[in-house]
Amino acid sequence: MSANAVGAVLDAYRRMADVDAGPNGLNCVLWTDEARALADAAAVDALPQAGALAGVPFLAKDNIATTHLQTTCGSRILEGYVSPYEATVITRLCDAGAVLVGKTNCDEFAMGSSNENSAYGPVLNPIDRTRVPGGSSGGSAASVAAGIVRIALGSETGGSVRQPASYCGIVGVKPTYGRVSRFGLVAFASSLDQVGVFGTTVDDAALALEVIAGRDPRDATSADCPVGSYRKARTNDLAGVVIGRPREYFPSSLDSRILHLCDEALDGLRARGATVRDVSLPHTDLAIPVYYIIAPAEASSNLARFDGVRYGLRIEAKGLREMYDSTRTRGFGPEVTRRILLGTYVLSAGYYDAYYRKAQQVRTLIAKDFCDVFDSGVHLLFTPTTPSTAFEFGAKSDPYEMYLNDIFTATANLAGVPAISVPIGDVDGLPAGGQLIARHFDEQTMFRGAYALETARKAPA
Ligand code: GLN
Repeated sequence: MSANAVGAVLDAYRRMADVDAGPNGLNCVLWTDEARALADAAAVDALPQAGALAGVPFLAKDNIATTHLQTTCGSRILEGYVSPYEATVITRLCDAGAVLVGKTNCDEFAMGSSNENSAYGPVLNPIDRTRVPGGSSGGSAASVAAGIVRIALGSETGGSVRQPASYCGIVGVKPTYGRVSRFGLVAFASSLDQVGVFGTTVDDAALALEVIAGRDPRDATSADCPVGSYRKARTNDLAGVVIGRPREYFPSSLDSRILHLCDEALDGLRARGATVRDVSLPHTDLAIPVYYIIAPAEASSNLARFDGVRYGLRIEAKGLREMYDSTRTRGFGPEVTRRILLGTYVLSAGYYDAYYRKAQQVRTLIAKDFCDVFDSGVHLLFTPTTPSTAFEFGAKSDPYEMYLNDIFTATANLAGVPAISVPIGDVDGLPAGGQLIARHFDEQTMFRGAYALETARKAPA
């Protein structure tokens, strides 16, 4: 049977033209090559066999390298840059018959939680256009929520897939650190970065993650650990599964409406056989300061390569140093500049021990909290994904306020464990997500919980 990839790709572009383009559009998609996508689709249709992903159009965040579309990372400094090689995640999806239909808008170099930091303008939340879609993978999340594609790739350093998934009412997964190849993912903070997946449903996300996961000889940090079939986790039965409810993720200040949705979600999980237990991850409140030391430190080093010599923008000046200065001053936006300054500061001789080394030590404690709780017989943790629903543009002009958005998500990146956000309901018409966190490389149980969470909402037991 033919996959009808051409029809699906044409539908995606039609939807893009309707909702995304123009001055009133969502602004999810930055770069496309329709002729190339249609040719790729025709090639898929010509194949005799069609797998589950055959002919499925997908979008990829603009920090994932592609050889026929630009990879700008939402930055002026990489405007017009086309990579000479393709990211492994793109190759794997295309080899499975999926068709890349474009690259999505994001916060510059994936730094942000609202998409307001893109050099190419903000992305609007399709549920309420006065609000942010979340970030930094906001374009990928909004394009799935708006029905342009079923599957999109994003990247995660501190919550950049789960938080926008929560704000846009879709599913978003951050796999275990090492689960997915980062070959071709532009580095932000290398000890935290992972490629993540968005889907309209848990099944879409499981399908895409299954295809991109697994060892890649071109990424030495990708783990040689069996992938398994995440879709087989669709049992809708949680008998024997112990779910921890970490008290630090349910502070007394938590919005009561989000708390209520979480309680309902936990009831749904119990109704499917899970046991829910109160647990503690005592170092949780240190995650934001630790993350905002380690991530900028690594970013300041990773972004040193954008100097006007090898990639993208170059602003000529009289000497080499002046050329670096003018290129980087013109090329980087304010948030990226802030992170480079912060990162350079915490790594500098007099402050390394006080900030960077201390942050690494506390990071170890945060990771140990997760190991301890999983060793105590807990299989999954359930938390809200975000402390609020999508906020209005401009509402968080203080960077620290913005950083606090990552309070429930950055911990999983610091510990390297897998986590998924699944819609659990609405607050005043705006979606909220519930998060399930699993042990390292136990995406199978994470998906088992996620399928149950999704069905519990659609068909309460
Ligand atoms: N919001 C976080 C930050 O700004 C997370 C970003 C991410 O996960 N890429 O760093």
